[in-house]
Formats: sequence, C-alpha cells, structure tokens
Amino acid sequence: AKQQGRGLLRFFSPEMTQRAKERLRMEGDLRRAIERDELLLHYQPQVDLRSGELVGLEALVRWHHPQRGLVPPGDFIPLAEESGLVVGLGEWVLCTACRQMALWLEAGVAPRQTAVNVSAVQLSQGRLVERVSEILRETGIPPERLELEITESFIMADREQSFASLTELRALGVRLSIDDFGTGYASFGYLQRIAAQKLKIDLSFVRDVTTNSGNASIVRAIIALGRSLGLAVIAEGVESTEQAEYLRALGCDAIQGYLISRPLPVAEITAFLEQARSA
Ligand code: C2E
Ligand code: CA
Ligand code: CA
Ligand code: CA
Repeated sequence: AKQQGRGLLRFFSPEMTQRAKERLRMEGDLRRAIERDELLLHYQPQVDLRSGELVGLEALVRWHHPQRGLVPPGDFIPLAEESGLVVGLGEWVLCTACRQMALWLEAGVAPRQTAVNVSAVQLSQGRLVERVSEILRETGIPPERLELEITESFIMADREQSFASLTELRALGVRLSIDDFGTGYASFGYLQRIAAQKLKIDLSFVRDVTTNSGNASIVRAIIALGRSLGLAVIAEGVESTEQAEYLRALGCDAIQGYLISRPLPVAEITAFLEQARSA
C-alpha cells in the first residue's frame, strides 16, 4: 500500500499540468456521477413545420455536479468519449429515456418518439445493439418510439463495426437520424448504407440562414438531398419565426429550437405533452 501511495505521489508530480489534474478529477467525478444519480435528462420538442404538430423529443443529458452546479454536455461529453465513460453514460441515457417513454405511454401523453444521442465510441462497440435490445425488452416500449441520433463522425471510429451495428439496430426497428449533418465527413455513399429516416441540419447552418447566402445554399442542398433519398429533414437551433418561415419555404419538414422551446426538465416537458395532446 505504501508503495502504491508513492506511485500515486509520483503520478501527481509537479510536472503534471494543472489542466491534467483537473481533467483527472473531472473524470473521477463523472465516473461517480452515474452511481450518485447526478445525471438527468432534459427534453426538447421537435415540431412539424406545416401542421405545427409535435413530432418528437430529443433527450439531452445534464450533469448536476455537487460543487459546480449544472454542467452542460459540451463540458463533459468529450471527456467521457476520450475516457470511454461515454459507454456507461450512454446506456444510462438510453435506459432513462426509454423508461420515461414507458411512463408517458402509460399516461397516454407519449410523443411519437424520443431521440437519443449516440456517440461514435458507443457505436464502434458491438455491445450497443445488445443493450438497446435489452432496454427495449425491459421497458416494453415499441422500438419505433426510440430514435438514435448518429453523427457523421462515426466514420472515424471502427467503420465496419459501426455499419454492422447500425444495420442490426435498424433490424430491431429503432429509428436512425443523422445528426449535425454537413459538419463532418459525409460521403453520399455511406448515407445510403445507413438506412436512416432523418437528416438533421446543424444549428451552425441555421443560425444565419436568412442572412448568409452561403449557409442558405448549404441548407437548400441538404434539404434537396434528404428529399431525393426519401429522408425527413429537421433543422435544429431555430430561434426566430424568420428562420422557421425561410426553412419552410425551402421545404424543410420539421424544426427544433428555442422558438418552440428550450430543452425542459421532465415535469415541464410532461406538462408540454399534456397541453399538446389536448390542443
Ligand atoms: P446536439 O446533439 O447537436 O444538440 C443540440 C444542442 O443545441 C443542444 O445543446 C441544445 O440544447 C442546443 N439548442 C437547441 N435549440 C437551440 C437554439 O434554438 N439555439 C441554440 N443556440 N442552441 C440550441 P446541449 O444540450 O448543450 O448539447 C450539446 C451537445 O452535447 C449535443 O449537441 C450533443 O452532441 C451532446 N449531447 C447531449 N446529450 C448527449 C447524450 O446523451 N449523449 C451524447 N453522446 N451526447 C450528448
Ligand atoms: Ca443531437
Ligand atoms: Ca451532436
Ligand atoms: Ca448540432
């Protein structure tokens, strides 16, 4: 034990940068966060641009850190991915979102589907398919109530394993959506291999779509591509009616963003679902 202690002391030598120490502490905190029940999900509505109907929700993870308060995912997902912790975290997210869907189904207020973000790291591990299938069985929700948002970056990880996982997930009946479309390493060939139902336009293109003709061209091209492949196209990060109108004119199917609602905690999104149902 004494030797181990010395080893640790050497590990924490002054040469180690403050940043690295900080990182290591965050990693330990994150490892404990799941057991300690510090993670939670917020849900953001997705709305059809023509009918105004609610078409689904996206689940977005939040971390209620005991000292730091609410930590946004941008501050810990990259760390979770590098350390491999994203696998356990991702399973927690899947499980929690599916359990919540089961509760909403029981209450008669369920949205058509909940979309869950899946990291490339999860996808490159064969166990994702097994876990998804277990979670579906445990919660008893119909597979088409679950949508997985996959980023183009999955191409970077173990490509063949990832394609195989996606094919098996589709065979299970879960829905697939390509997230952050246009920001990564898209090739048209892989789009066909994935058999997704949805393309999601990244908010970086949506932000100034009404004023930046370059971004408007990109958005128009993504919508045309989606249509020709028979995919639904949704734009994220829509904050103004001008953006919504513009996207509708371009033929976009659905939107998600602050214009409709911020991501909301369970109690508030449930109230939103009840309202949407009686509307
Ligand atoms: P994303 O998947 O692209 O999610 C969209 C982000 O845009 C979310 O940030 C959302 O809160 C934000 N957003 C939504 N509407 C608007 C808007 O009108 N304006 C602006 N400015 N922003 C808007 P969030 O929740 O901070 O999540 C950031 C990223 O963290 C996500 O980007 C996703 O890549 C990742 N993430 C979140 N939850 C999970 C998760 O459960 N698993 C994994 N692997 N990644 C997650
Ligand atoms: Ca997403
Ligand atoms: Ca993303
Ligand atoms: Ca995005």
